[in-house]
Amino acid sequence: MGRVKRIAILGSTGSIGQQALDVVRASPDELQIVALTGNRNLRLLERQIREFQPRMFCSTTRPDTSYGGEFLSLDEIAGHPEVDFVVVATAGKAGLSPTLAALKTGKTVALANKEVLVMAGEITVREASLHQAQILPIDSEHSAIWQCLQGEESKPQRLFITASGGPFYSCSQSQLSQVTAEQALQHPVWKMGRKVTIDSATLMNKGLEVIEAHWLFSFPFGSIEILMHPQSIVHSLVEFMDGSLKAQLSRPDMRLPIQYALSYPRRWPNPELPRLDWSKIHSLDFEPVDYDRFPCLRLAVDAGKSGGTYPAVLCAADEVAVELFLSRRIGFTDIAKIVQKTLEQHRNIAGPSVEEILAADDWARECAARLSLDHCAEPERRSNLGIER
Ligand code: MG
Repeated sequence: MGRVKRIAILGSTGSIGQQALDVVRASPDELQIVALTGNRNLRLLERQIREFQPRMFCSTTRPDTSYGGEFLSLDEIAGHPEVDFVVVATAGKAGLSPTLAALKTGKTVALANKEVLVMAGEITVREASLHQAQILPIDSEHSAIWQCLQGEESKPQRLFITASGGPFYSCSQSQLSQVTAEQALQHPVWKMGRKVTIDSATLMNKGLEVIEAHWLFSFPFGSIEILMHPQSIVHSLVEFMDGSLKAQLSRPDMRLPIQYALSYPRRWPNPELPRLDWSKIHSLDFEPVDYDRFPCLRLAVDAGKSGGTYPAVLCAADEVAVELFLSRRIGFTDIAKIVQKTLEQHRNIAGPSVEEILAADDWARECAARLSLDHCAEPERRSNLGIER
Protein backbone atom coordinates (compact mmCIF):
# COMPACT_ATOMS: atom_id res chain seq x y z
CA MET A 1 0.00 0.00 0.00
CA GLY A 2 1.27 3.46 -0.91
CA ARG A 3 1.41 6.52 1.28
CA VAL A 4 -1.87 8.19 2.20
CA LYS A 5 -2.63 10.94 -0.34
CA ARG A 6 -3.16 14.32 1.29
CA ILE A 7 -5.92 16.00 -0.65
CA ALA A 8 -7.22 19.53 -1.04
CA ILE A 9 -10.66 19.84 -2.62
CA LEU A 10 -11.25 23.29 -4.05
CA GLY A 11 -15.00 23.69 -4.48
CA SER A 12 -16.04 20.95 -2.05
CA THR A 13 -19.63 22.19 -1.75
CA GLY A 14 -20.34 21.92 -5.49
CA SER A 15 -21.65 18.85 -7.28
CA ILE A 16 -18.21 17.39 -8.14
CA GLY A 17 -16.76 18.41 -4.76
CA GLN A 18 -19.48 16.55 -2.87
CA GLN A 19 -19.01 13.45 -5.01
CA ALA A 20 -15.24 13.64 -4.45
CA LEU A 21 -15.93 13.55 -0.71
CA ASP A 22 -18.09 10.43 -1.26
CA VAL A 23 -15.06 8.79 -2.86
CA VAL A 24 -12.87 9.84 0.09
CA ARG A 25 -15.43 8.35 2.51
CA ALA A 26 -15.21 5.05 0.61
CA SER A 27 -11.38 4.87 0.86
CA PRO A 28 -10.45 6.39 4.23
CA ASP A 29 -7.19 4.40 4.46
CA GLU A 30 -5.88 5.81 1.18
CA LEU A 31 -7.03 9.41 1.26
CA GLN A 32 -6.84 12.19 3.77
CA ILE A 33 -8.60 15.53 3.40
CA VAL A 34 -6.24 18.34 4.41
CA ALA A 35 -8.12 21.27 2.87
CA LEU A 36 -11.67 22.10 1.83
CA THR A 37 -12.89 25.25 0.15
CA GLY A 38 -16.39 26.45 -0.65
CA ASN A 39 -18.00 29.45 -2.21
CA ARG A 40 -21.15 30.74 -0.56
CA ASN A 41 -22.69 27.58 0.86
CA LEU A 42 -21.18 28.08 4.31
CA ARG A 43 -23.58 25.73 6.05
CA LEU A 44 -22.56 22.75 3.92
CA LEU A 45 -18.88 23.69 4.17
CA GLU A 46 -19.23 23.82 7.94
CA ARG A 47 -20.70 20.31 7.99
CA GLN A 48 -17.91 19.01 5.74
CA ILE A 49 -15.27 20.65 7.93
CA ARG A 50 -16.76 19.07 11.04
CA GLU A 51 -16.70 15.65 9.38
CA PHE A 52 -13.24 15.75 7.75
CA GLN A 53 -11.40 18.11 10.14
CA PRO A 54 -9.15 19.64 7.45
CA ARG A 55 -5.98 21.54 8.41
CA MET A 56 -6.95 24.39 6.08
CA PHE A 57 -10.09 25.85 4.60
CA CYS A 58 -11.31 28.80 2.57
CA SER A 59 -14.66 30.31 1.65
CA THR A 60 -15.87 33.53 0.03
CA THR A 61 -17.46 34.76 3.22
CA ARG A 62 -15.19 34.42 6.18
CA PRO A 63 -17.12 32.46 8.80
CA ASP A 64 -17.84 34.07 12.20
CA THR A 65 -17.05 30.99 14.23
CA SER A 66 -13.60 29.49 14.48
CA TYR A 67 -13.33 25.97 13.04
CA GLY A 68 -9.95 25.22 14.48
CA GLY A 69 -8.35 24.97 11.03
CA GLU A 70 -6.40 27.69 9.26
CA PHE A 71 -8.18 30.13 6.92
CA LEU A 72 -6.00 30.48 3.79
CA SER A 73 -6.49 31.70 0.23
CA LEU A 74 -7.11 29.22 -2.61
CA ASP A 75 -3.60 29.83 -3.95
CA GLU A 76 -2.01 29.32 -0.55
CA ILE A 77 -3.86 26.03 -0.11
CA ALA A 78 -3.04 24.84 -3.64
CA GLY A 79 0.67 25.50 -3.15
CA HIS A 80 0.86 24.34 0.49
CA PRO A 81 3.64 21.80 1.27
CA GLU A 82 1.22 19.59 3.22
CA VAL A 83 -0.96 19.06 0.16
CA ASP A 84 -0.01 16.30 -2.35
CA PHE A 85 -3.03 16.31 -4.58
CA VAL A 86 -5.40 19.13 -5.53
CA VAL A 87 -8.91 18.49 -6.84
CA VAL A 88 -9.97 21.63 -8.71
CA ALA A 89 -13.76 21.55 -8.72
CA THR A 90 -14.43 25.28 -8.53
CA ALA A 91 -16.56 26.84 -11.23
CA GLY A 92 -15.32 29.35 -13.78
CA LYS A 93 -12.10 31.31 -13.93
CA ALA A 94 -11.62 31.09 -10.12
CA GLY A 95 -9.94 27.73 -10.76
CA LEU A 96 -7.12 29.13 -12.89
CA SER A 97 -4.85 30.78 -10.34
CA PRO A 98 -4.90 27.92 -7.77
CA THR A 99 -4.34 25.36 -10.54
CA LEU A 100 -1.20 27.22 -11.60
CA ALA A 101 -0.12 27.55 -7.95
CA ALA A 102 -0.46 23.78 -7.49
CA LEU A 103 1.41 22.94 -10.71
CA LYS A 104 4.25 25.36 -9.87
CA THR A 105 4.85 23.40 -6.66
CA GLY A 106 4.86 20.10 -8.58
CA LYS A 107 1.57 18.79 -7.24
CA THR A 108 -0.83 16.51 -9.03
CA VAL A 109 -3.97 18.34 -10.09
CA ALA A 110 -7.22 16.52 -10.78
CA LEU A 111 -9.14 18.91 -12.96
CA ALA A 112 -12.92 19.08 -13.04
CA ASN A 113 -12.99 22.77 -13.89
CA LYS A 114 -13.30 23.24 -17.67
CA GLU A 115 -12.33 26.90 -17.87
CA VAL A 116 -8.74 26.34 -16.73
CA LEU A 117 -7.72 24.40 -19.85
CA VAL A 118 -10.12 26.21 -22.16
CA MET A 119 -9.01 29.72 -21.17
CA ALA A 120 -5.35 29.03 -20.51
CA GLY A 121 -4.53 25.60 -21.95
CA GLU A 122 -1.13 26.58 -23.31
CA ILE A 123 0.05 28.18 -20.05
CA THR A 124 -1.35 25.38 -17.87
CA VAL A 125 0.25 22.58 -19.89
CA ARG A 126 3.55 24.48 -20.02
CA GLU A 127 3.62 24.99 -16.23
CA ALA A 128 2.85 21.30 -15.68
CA SER A 129 5.72 20.14 -17.86
CA LEU A 130 8.11 22.78 -16.47
CA HIS A 131 7.53 21.56 -12.89
CA GLN A 132 6.97 17.88 -13.73
CA ALA A 133 3.49 18.12 -12.32
CA GLN A 134 0.63 15.98 -13.53
CA ILE A 135 -2.81 17.07 -14.69
CA LEU A 136 -5.39 14.29 -14.38
CA PRO A 137 -8.84 14.60 -15.90
CA ILE A 138 -12.01 14.17 -13.86
CA ASP A 139 -14.50 14.82 -16.65
CA SER A 140 -16.05 11.48 -17.67
CA GLU A 141 -15.09 11.80 -21.36
CA HIS A 142 -11.47 12.72 -20.72
CA SER A 143 -11.15 10.11 -18.02
CA ALA A 144 -12.42 7.55 -20.56
CA ILE A 145 -9.80 8.59 -23.13
CA TRP A 146 -7.09 8.57 -20.47
CA GLN A 147 -8.13 5.07 -19.32
CA CYS A 148 -8.07 3.82 -22.93
CA LEU A 149 -4.54 5.18 -23.39
CA GLN A 150 -3.11 3.22 -20.44
CA GLY A 151 -0.51 0.69 -21.58
CA GLU A 152 -0.38 2.08 -25.14
CA GLU A 153 2.96 3.29 -26.47
CA SER A 154 1.73 4.50 -29.85
CA LYS A 155 -0.14 7.75 -30.17
CA PRO A 156 -3.75 7.20 -31.25
CA GLN A 157 -5.02 8.56 -34.56
CA ARG A 158 -8.45 9.80 -33.55
CA LEU A 159 -10.35 10.58 -30.36
CA PHE A 160 -14.12 10.22 -30.26
CA ILE A 161 -15.79 12.20 -27.51
CA THR A 162 -19.32 11.00 -26.86
CA ALA A 163 -22.25 13.31 -26.12
CA SER A 164 -25.64 12.36 -24.73
CA GLY A 165 -27.13 15.34 -26.56
CA GLY A 166 -28.90 16.70 -23.51
CA PRO A 167 -32.68 17.05 -23.29
CA PHE A 168 -33.26 18.72 -26.68
CA TYR A 169 -31.21 16.76 -29.13
CA SER A 170 -34.23 15.73 -31.18
CA CYS A 171 -35.87 19.20 -31.11
CA SER A 172 -36.25 21.27 -34.28
CA GLN A 173 -34.79 24.76 -34.56
CA SER A 174 -38.16 26.41 -33.83
CA GLN A 175 -38.80 24.14 -30.82
CA LEU A 176 -35.36 25.06 -29.51
CA SER A 177 -36.21 28.78 -29.54
CA GLN A 178 -39.15 28.08 -27.17
CA VAL A 179 -37.19 26.08 -24.60
CA THR A 180 -37.55 27.35 -21.02
CA ALA A 181 -34.94 27.41 -18.26
CA GLU A 182 -36.95 24.81 -16.28
CA GLN A 183 -36.92 22.40 -19.24
CA ALA A 184 -33.24 23.00 -19.90
CA LEU A 185 -32.33 22.22 -16.29
CA GLN A 186 -33.73 18.68 -16.63
CA HIS A 187 -30.80 16.69 -18.00
CA PRO A 188 -31.88 13.15 -18.94
CA VAL A 189 -28.74 11.37 -17.70
CA TRP A 190 -26.35 13.41 -15.59
CA LYS A 191 -27.06 15.30 -12.39
CA MET A 192 -24.86 18.39 -12.50
CA GLY A 193 -24.64 22.07 -11.56
CA ARG A 194 -26.90 24.61 -13.32
CA LYS A 195 -24.31 26.17 -15.62
CA VAL A 196 -22.96 22.87 -16.94
CA THR A 197 -26.51 21.53 -17.37
CA ILE A 198 -27.38 24.44 -19.68
CA ASP A 199 -24.02 24.07 -21.45
CA SER A 200 -24.89 20.41 -22.03
CA ALA A 201 -28.25 21.38 -23.54
CA THR A 202 -26.61 23.87 -25.97
CA LEU A 203 -23.69 21.43 -26.55
CA MET A 204 -21.32 24.25 -25.55
CA ASN A 205 -20.11 21.79 -22.93
CA LYS A 206 -19.05 19.35 -25.65
CA GLY A 207 -17.20 22.09 -27.50
CA LEU A 208 -15.33 23.00 -24.31
CA GLU A 209 -14.48 19.31 -23.88
CA VAL A 210 -12.94 19.23 -27.37
CA ILE A 211 -10.67 22.14 -26.40
CA GLU A 212 -9.78 20.39 -23.12
CA ALA A 213 -8.94 17.16 -24.96
CA HIS A 214 -6.71 19.10 -27.35
CA TRP A 215 -4.60 20.35 -24.42
CA LEU A 216 -4.77 17.30 -22.13
CA PHE A 217 -3.69 14.82 -24.79
CA SER A 218 -1.80 17.29 -27.05
CA PHE A 219 -4.01 16.22 -29.89
CA PRO A 220 -4.86 18.20 -33.08
CA PHE A 221 -8.42 19.56 -33.31
CA GLY A 222 -8.90 17.92 -36.71
CA SER A 223 -8.53 14.45 -35.15
CA ILE A 224 -11.02 14.95 -32.30
CA GLU A 225 -14.56 14.00 -33.24
CA ILE A 226 -17.90 14.06 -31.46
CA LEU A 227 -20.29 11.13 -31.49
CA MET A 228 -23.86 11.42 -30.27
CA HIS A 229 -24.58 8.55 -27.91
CA PRO A 230 -27.85 9.06 -26.00
CA GLN A 231 -27.36 6.18 -23.51
CA SER A 232 -24.16 7.73 -22.02
CA ILE A 233 -22.69 4.28 -21.37
CA VAL A 234 -19.64 4.62 -23.66
CA HIS A 235 -17.82 7.65 -22.26
CA SER A 236 -15.41 8.09 -25.18
CA LEU A 237 -13.34 6.09 -27.66
CA VAL A 238 -9.79 6.08 -28.94
CA GLU A 239 -8.79 4.86 -32.42
CA PHE A 240 -5.28 3.57 -33.04
CA MET A 241 -3.24 3.45 -36.25
CA ASP A 242 -4.22 -0.15 -36.98
CA GLY A 243 -7.91 0.79 -36.94
CA SER A 244 -8.51 -0.76 -33.53
CA LEU A 245 -10.84 1.16 -31.21
CA LYS A 246 -10.86 1.12 -27.42
CA ALA A 247 -13.75 2.45 -25.38
CA GLN A 248 -14.50 2.88 -21.70
CA LEU A 249 -17.97 1.88 -20.54
CA SER A 250 -19.76 2.28 -17.25
CA ARG A 251 -23.00 3.53 -15.76
CA PRO A 252 -22.96 7.33 -15.85
CA ASP A 253 -21.71 8.24 -12.37
CA MET A 254 -19.12 10.96 -11.81
CA ARG A 255 -17.72 9.19 -8.76
CA LEU A 256 -15.99 6.67 -11.07
CA PRO A 257 -13.81 9.20 -12.99
CA ILE A 258 -13.16 11.02 -9.71
CA GLN A 259 -12.05 7.82 -7.99
CA TYR A 260 -9.87 6.79 -10.95
CA ALA A 261 -8.01 10.11 -10.75
CA LEU A 262 -7.55 9.65 -6.99
CA SER A 263 -6.51 5.99 -7.17
CA TYR A 264 -4.33 6.25 -10.30
CA PRO A 265 -2.26 4.30 -11.27
CA ARG A 266 -4.22 1.71 -9.29
CA ARG A 267 -7.91 0.93 -9.15
CA TRP A 268 -9.78 0.57 -5.89
CA PRO A 269 -12.88 -1.45 -5.07
CA ASN A 270 -15.93 0.64 -4.23
CA PRO A 271 -19.26 -1.14 -3.70
CA GLU A 272 -21.03 2.23 -3.97
CA LEU A 273 -20.17 2.50 -7.66
CA PRO A 274 -22.98 1.12 -9.84
CA ARG A 275 -22.45 -1.80 -12.25
CA LEU A 276 -23.81 -2.07 -15.77
CA ASP A 277 -26.85 -4.31 -15.91
CA TRP A 278 -26.70 -5.82 -19.40
CA SER A 279 -30.24 -7.17 -19.13
CA LYS A 280 -31.43 -3.55 -19.17
CA ILE A 281 -29.25 -2.35 -22.05
CA HIS A 282 -30.93 -3.19 -25.31
CA SER A 283 -28.84 -1.08 -27.63
CA LEU A 284 -25.99 1.39 -27.78
CA ASP A 285 -26.62 4.02 -30.44
CA PHE A 286 -24.13 6.36 -32.09
CA GLU A 287 -24.59 9.04 -34.72
CA PRO A 288 -22.62 12.01 -36.05
CA VAL A 289 -23.33 15.35 -34.41
CA ASP A 290 -25.53 18.03 -36.06
CA TYR A 291 -23.48 21.22 -35.89
CA ASP A 292 -26.21 23.35 -37.49
CA ARG A 293 -28.83 22.98 -34.77
CA PHE A 294 -26.28 23.46 -32.01
CA PRO A 295 -24.14 26.44 -33.10
CA CYS A 296 -22.42 26.71 -29.69
CA LEU A 297 -20.49 23.56 -30.53
CA ARG A 298 -19.00 25.03 -33.71
CA LEU A 299 -18.30 28.36 -31.97
CA ALA A 300 -16.36 26.55 -29.26
CA VAL A 301 -14.32 24.35 -31.60
CA ASP A 302 -13.51 27.35 -33.84
CA ALA A 303 -12.47 29.45 -30.83
CA GLY A 304 -10.22 26.58 -29.71
CA LYS A 305 -8.62 26.33 -33.16
CA SER A 306 -8.05 30.10 -33.37
CA GLY A 307 -6.53 30.05 -29.87
CA GLY A 308 -5.16 33.18 -28.20
CA THR A 309 -7.78 34.98 -26.13
CA TYR A 310 -10.74 33.66 -28.16
CA PRO A 311 -11.45 30.67 -25.87
CA ALA A 312 -11.48 32.95 -22.79
CA VAL A 313 -13.93 35.26 -24.55
CA LEU A 314 -16.07 32.27 -25.49
CA CYS A 315 -16.24 31.06 -21.87
CA ALA A 316 -17.02 34.49 -20.42
CA ALA A 317 -19.67 35.37 -23.00
CA ASP A 318 -21.28 31.97 -22.50
CA GLU A 319 -21.36 32.41 -18.73
CA VAL A 320 -23.11 35.77 -19.08
CA ALA A 321 -25.57 34.43 -21.68
CA VAL A 322 -26.41 31.31 -19.62
CA GLU A 323 -27.05 33.46 -16.55
CA LEU A 324 -29.37 35.72 -18.61
CA PHE A 325 -31.19 32.67 -19.97
CA LEU A 326 -31.65 31.22 -16.47
CA SER A 327 -33.10 34.52 -15.29
CA ARG A 328 -35.44 34.50 -18.33
CA ARG A 329 -33.91 37.60 -19.92
CA ILE A 330 -33.03 35.86 -23.19
CA GLY A 331 -34.20 32.74 -25.04
CA PHE A 332 -32.35 29.45 -25.37
CA THR A 333 -31.20 30.05 -28.96
CA ASP A 334 -30.05 33.58 -28.03
CA ILE A 335 -27.20 32.08 -26.00
CA ALA A 336 -25.31 31.14 -29.18
CA LYS A 337 -26.12 34.48 -30.83
CA ILE A 338 -24.67 36.48 -27.95
CA VAL A 339 -21.56 34.32 -27.76
CA GLN A 340 -21.05 34.62 -31.52
CA LYS A 341 -21.47 38.41 -31.58
CA THR A 342 -19.06 38.81 -28.67
CA LEU A 343 -16.45 36.66 -30.45
CA GLU A 344 -16.92 38.71 -33.63
CA GLN A 345 -16.21 41.97 -31.78
CA HIS A 346 -13.09 40.63 -30.05
CA ARG A 347 -9.57 41.55 -31.13
CA ASN A 348 -7.57 38.42 -30.48
CA ILE A 349 -4.23 38.34 -28.69
CA ALA A 350 -2.00 35.41 -29.68
CA GLY A 351 0.03 33.63 -26.97
CA PRO A 352 -1.57 35.68 -24.17
CA SER A 353 -0.31 36.01 -20.59
CA VAL A 354 -2.59 35.16 -17.64
CA GLU A 355 -3.26 38.91 -17.21
CA GLU A 356 -4.24 39.28 -20.87
CA ILE A 357 -6.54 36.26 -20.58
CA LEU A 358 -8.25 37.70 -17.51
CA ALA A 359 -8.57 41.10 -19.22
CA ALA A 360 -10.18 39.42 -22.24
CA ASP A 361 -12.57 37.69 -19.84
CA ASP A 362 -13.58 41.05 -18.30
CA TRP A 363 -13.98 42.64 -21.72
CA ALA A 364 -16.15 39.74 -22.94
CA ARG A 365 -18.44 39.92 -19.91
CA GLU A 366 -19.11 43.61 -20.52
CA CYS A 367 -19.53 43.10 -24.24
CA ALA A 368 -21.94 40.16 -23.85
CA ALA A 369 -24.00 42.04 -21.26
CA ARG A 370 -24.21 45.07 -23.55
CA LEU A 371 -25.17 42.94 -26.55
CA SER A 372 -27.90 41.18 -24.61
CA LEU A 373 -29.36 44.49 -23.43
CA ASP A 374 -29.72 45.55 -27.08
CA HIS A 375 -31.09 42.12 -27.83
CA CYS A 376 -33.68 42.21 -25.04
CA ALA A 377 -34.76 45.70 -26.06
CA GLU A 378 -36.64 44.31 -29.06
CA PRO A 379 -40.31 44.53 -27.93
CA GLU A 380 -41.46 41.37 -29.71
CA ARG A 381 -38.72 39.35 -28.06
CA ARG A 382 -39.63 40.74 -24.64
CA SER A 383 -43.24 39.71 -24.91
CA ASN A 384 -42.24 36.26 -26.22
CA LEU A 385 -40.14 35.69 -23.15
CA GLY A 386 -42.77 37.11 -20.82
CA ILE A 387 -40.35 39.81 -19.64
CA GLU A 388 -42.10 42.63 -17.86
CA ARG A 389 -40.87 46.12 -17.68
MG1 MG B 1 -18.29 15.71 -19.58
